Amino acid sequence: MSRIDADEVRSALVPRVVLEYYGWKFKKSGDELESTSCPDRGEHSRRALLLNSKTGRWQCFPCGTSGDLFAFIGAVERFSMPGDFRKALEKAAEIAGVGPSELSDEDRKQRAVAWARKREEDEAAAKRATAQRDAAAIPVATAHWDSLAEKNQRGTEYLFERRVGDVILRGGVVRFDAGSPAVRLFSSRGETRNVVSRRLPELGEPKTPGLFACPSSGTLVNAVCDIVDGCDVVLTEGVMDSITARLAWSEAVILGAHGAGNLAKVASVAAPVAARHRARMLIVPHQDKAGCLRAIEATTAAQNGGLRIAKGSLAIVKHGHKDLNDAWCAGWRAA
Ligand SMILES: [Zn+2]
Repeated sequence: MSRIDADEVRSALVPRVVLEYYGWKFKKSGDELESTSCPDRGEHSRRALLLNSKTGRWQCFPCGTSGDLFAFIGAVERFSMPGDFRKALEKAAEIAGVGPSELSDEDRKQRAVAWARKREEDEAAAKRATAQRDAAAIPVATAHWDSLAEKNQRGTEYLFERRVGDVILRGGVVRFDAGSPAVRLFSSRGETRNVVSRRLPELGEPKTPGLFACPSSGTLVNAVCDIVDGCDVVLTEGVMDSITARLAWSEAVILGAHGAGNLAKVASVAAPVAARHRARMLIVPHQDKAGCLRAIEATTAAQNGGLRIAKGSLAIVKHGHKDLNDAWCAGWRAA
């Protein structure tokens, strides 16, 4: 029986052609295609999306979303992914001009090897490009941070609304990007590799945009290299919870992940350093389903890095609220 073959479609699907199919404007920059549109939100007011012209991997920096071309098509078509994968595959086949597979099992096997090799090469090239981009992000993000205001009336009001206005007294943690509170995202060596803001609620979505082409992996508020002998290290997620953690554990090293998806990554980098310094790591996840799953991943990563709940070097903080800032506003305080 002939049917649409995902590998065949993937190898025939050209990223540029997908953008043209949807009538998006884009600019080519090396192997990357740049656009002001993204699959989830449509038009951003400035450049937002990078799509690799070889691998089809894409990333929207303001939204913090990413994926492959099937995810891209699924999101643009408003399919519910990954459940609607089949629908996205059929649409992708239509765009690529691929019909039901005519290949025999033997042909397929042979081509599969070539497809896999090509994909490996493309991904290696994309990885090198990302590493270059990450290095280039440091001067961009540092200059952006240096340009931000240290004071802003509306921004300060907003911080007080969230009960974290006192963070202003801890100089250097928060600055203001056109009024919105912003914090630095650090590399493990303490370089500023991105600036992430919590946009004022009246500005709408996206809530916590980072800078274009700057990485989302790293730590908010402090860096892994700030860990010293016997200190507490607090792992949390998001701009607001990171700022809240700064106040809740005033002496600790705060390592905030930009997005729940980065929590385990932060844990895997920080845990061995914490173990070496006999530091205690506290993981403070969001207490919803996604947050719990991420907390488990982060806990596993911390244990692999040498920290142990039984020995008191690792703990999960439960505060009974949706997130740390909610708990803080409701009067919860660290033990
Ligand atoms: Zn976007």
